[in-house]
Amino acid sequence: MALTLVWLRDDLRIADNPALHAAAGRGDVVVCYVLDEVSEGIRPLGGASRWWLHNSLSSLRSAFEDQGIPLVLRSGPAADVIPRLIEESGADAVFWNRRYVLAERNVDAALKGFLSDEGYQVHSFQANLLFEPWEVTTGSGSPYKVFTPFWRACRNRPAPREPLDGPTVLRGPNVDSEDLDEWRLLPDTFDWAGGLRQTWTPGELTAQALLDRFVTGTVDGYADARQLPDVEGTSRLSPHLRFGEISPFQVWHSARAASTSATASDLAIFTQELGWREFCWQLLYHQPRLATENYRRQFDAFPWQQPDSDELDAWQYGRTGFPLIDAGMRQLWHTGWMHNRVRMAVGSFLVKNMMVDWRVGEQWFWDTLVDADPANNAANWQWVAGSGADAAPYFRIFNPVTQSKKFDPDGRYLRRWIPELRSAHKVHEPWTDLPAGYPPPLLDLKVSRERALNAYQDLRQD
Ligand code: FAD
Repeated sequence: MALTLVWLRDDLRIADNPALHAAAGRGDVVVCYVLDEVSEGIRPLGGASRWWLHNSLSSLRSAFEDQGIPLVLRSGPAADVIPRLIEESGADAVFWNRRYVLAERNVDAALKGFLSDEGYQVHSFQANLLFEPWEVTTGSGSPYKVFTPFWRACRNRPAPREPLDGPTVLRGPNVDSEDLDEWRLLPDTFDWAGGLRQTWTPGELTAQALLDRFVTGTVDGYADARQLPDVEGTSRLSPHLRFGEISPFQVWHSARAASTSATASDLAIFTQELGWREFCWQLLYHQPRLATENYRRQFDAFPWQQPDSDELDAWQYGRTGFPLIDAGMRQLWHTGWMHNRVRMAVGSFLVKNMMVDWRVGEQWFWDTLVDADPANNAANWQWVAGSGADAAPYFRIFNPVTQSKKFDPDGRYLRRWIPELRSAHKVHEPWTDLPAGYPPPLLDLKVSRERALNAYQDLRQD
């Protein structure tokens, strides 16, 4: 009897899971997840991601148990754990869905070589990106550096395949599992995750429900509402996509199926956001050090300032005295998520007004975002900094006051996240009548903007 080991990674779902689908079609299955924090080059997950992972695995384990099989949890280097699991279970094949971070690709390639030489069947599947990063290239065969032609080229390719149904029957032997609680993925010194628990329910069922709610309701008006931080105008699918609780194929096809003449343009903009996700991943695939090296090497000479710890604390914990920045950073700290427009504003503030290296912001987001994603986070920080591919020009400096007046005119977002400002008259510019407990501005917007522009000018002349 064929027995396949299915190794789950960033694809914590049962539906539209090609590796699981193919394995179930072959015969019995053993499904495992390996917590590998030790293989060379693997970046340890941030705190918020660890919280998400714990809850996502817990939810998936219940879903598999309902189907009659365990989810086998093991920790250690995958190069050791997977062969051991094959031996213990008696599997004759290993299936997984592809991943694209270089260190992870290296682990997978080595294992594939080793196991194939040992006579096992090893198959990998496309599951987490609509287009493989090596598939979409310019006429000369090189990767795209600009989003618009990249996305046009994607759309000219055959449409992404239809999602696969989850297997209805799963059978397989019982294999020992480690205890999820023993992995200590949840906060253990003090419980900072209360806001995350209030905001999110990790797992495939919630992801599916959010998608349904989005395509049948929220999407109407997405083009405008997605700009407004106080409105639930976006899908909130990012952490679910990050951990693969839902696939981009499911999102893509649900969006297209729900499209009516009233929502077609909103849906086109939404699917374009999925396109940005694809673009970020193809950038990371071709530039594996996207989270640590400037994409445009010209920025290597940029005179970043070393912030003192009070200044950095002020940005991280939302005490800069600029309401939009503080509201965003407090939303992030409390919920593990921040609205996209505010992400751009807080990023610009750190990198341009404070002139702090974008990698400092990337690392803070990596630690605090529930959707912290190796490609999206790095590519977007470089976009904000101006050092990335198809990035915002460095001279585009978001003014936090103008931004909040435009996108949160009544100050509802500001008041929600900054209790000190609840009864402030000038909520966008509170410093003329500073409410008790709210800090004065950390810096002068005009002076800091000039300083950044001058530094950029010098860089261009070098
Ligand atoms: P929706 O508007 O509903 O979009 C649907 C999906 O499209 C998102 O879930 C996401 O997967 C994708 N998407 C949307 N915008 C972008 C974008 N600009 N780049 C890439 N994919 C996008 N997104 C992450 O998923 N993880 C990150 O770590 C991350 N870090 C960011 C850092 C900075 C400095 C900035 C400016 C943006 C970052 N983003 C990141 C992109 C974006 O802010 C989030 O994807 C979005 O806010 C998620 O909310 P949503 O799911 O409701 O988005």
